Amino acid sequence: MSYKAEYIWIDGTEPTAKLRSKTRIIDDGAEPGTWGFDGSSTNQATGNFSDLVLRPVSAYPDPIRGGSAVLVLCEVFTVDDRPHRSNTRSLLRPVAEQFADQEPLFGIEQEYTFFQGPRPLGFPEAGYPAPQGGYYCGVGADEIFGREIVEKHLDNCLAAGLTISGINAEVMPGQWEFQVGPLNPLDVADQLWIARWLLYRTAEDFGVSASLDPKPAEGDWNGAGAHTNFSTRAMRSGYDAIIEACEALGRDDKPLEHIRQYGAGIEARLTGAHETAPWNEYSYGVSDRGASVRIPWQVEVDKKGYIEDRRPNANVDPYVVTRLMVDTCCTALDK
Ligand code: ADP
Ligand code: MN
Ligand code: MN
Ligand code: MN
Ligand code: MN
Repeated sequence: MSYKAEYIWIDGTEPTAKLRSKTRIIDDGAEPGTWGFDGSSTNQATGNFSDLVLRPVSAYPDPIRGGSAVLVLCEVFTVDDRPHRSNTRSLLRPVAEQFADQEPLFGIEQEYTFFQGPRPLGFPEAGYPAPQGGYYCGVGADEIFGREIVEKHLDNCLAAGLTISGINAEVMPGQWEFQVGPLNPLDVADQLWIARWLLYRTAEDFGVSASLDPKPAEGDWNGAGAHTNFSTRAMRSGYDAIIEACEALGRDDKPLEHIRQYGAGIEARLTGAHETAPWNEYSYGVSDRGASVRIPWQVEVDKKGYIEDRRPNANVDPYVVTRLMVDTCCTALDK
């Protein structure tokens, strides 16, 4: 007998990488081993040097196919065994290892927007829906678009064994959020990529697409972000470390270094309106949803906990944002 393994990897599309996957039939008793693909079809290679290698890094029960089927997340390598330039996970690995003793944890809030054809789900064929105000955490067919897909996606994530902490309807019609974590850097990023794949795959069966576009509708509509909540053991036990992490993110050239790698099109979303701070002004504050980094109210009360970097776009690469935050904050906290 045999089972189905869906090999999933991140391609080389610029400026925002896409997920790709293909199916391999594996004999019972055998593990999903390394495999190959045509990199010239994924913006990862030229036609005359097209072979690239898939190295499995984690596997999850496949909730779509069920039975003994699995989802297999892979890193991409060249045939001479070097991480491919699109392989951002390979850059996170050494940083996560270097600071593992600080026990960093992340919870990432993934916002996204459903589309049917050219319009966000719930937008009428002509004109616009009623202005924002009632949609966030709303209920009822006049406010909620795509809940059956969202519920199915949540069930699929849980069946795959992902650590999902919640879901909610967002501020714009057809816009939703799920949260992955709290988990260590590699696990939160791996699981977010798998949860994204499951989102696209689940919505596909409903004839709907999901988009991580950071500004899916122009005008007075909220963008889509990926608020990244972060703590270390020191931050979970005292307030000095909370403040030092906030300060470190604002020091020297760190704000721009981070912003530049927090997802394509970030200036269009971080305008200073719609619960954002302007992309070129770093700030932090308690309870402040207009700051770059928010210290949750409860964290100030408890004098310990975590911080929320509100800047990352919905289309951010979680391997990149976790690497930058661990590197910047844990280096400062090491001193
Ligand atoms: P918001 O109020 O910003 O919408 P959410 O409830 O959507 O917040 O998301 C908060 C996230 O923070 C969750 O993913 C949760 O798992 C995560 N989180 C909670 N505690 C910690 C912690 N100590 N370190 C890192 N992340 C945490
Ligand atoms: Mn072929
Ligand atoms: Mn949230
Ligand atoms: Mn949100
Ligand atoms: Mn948030």
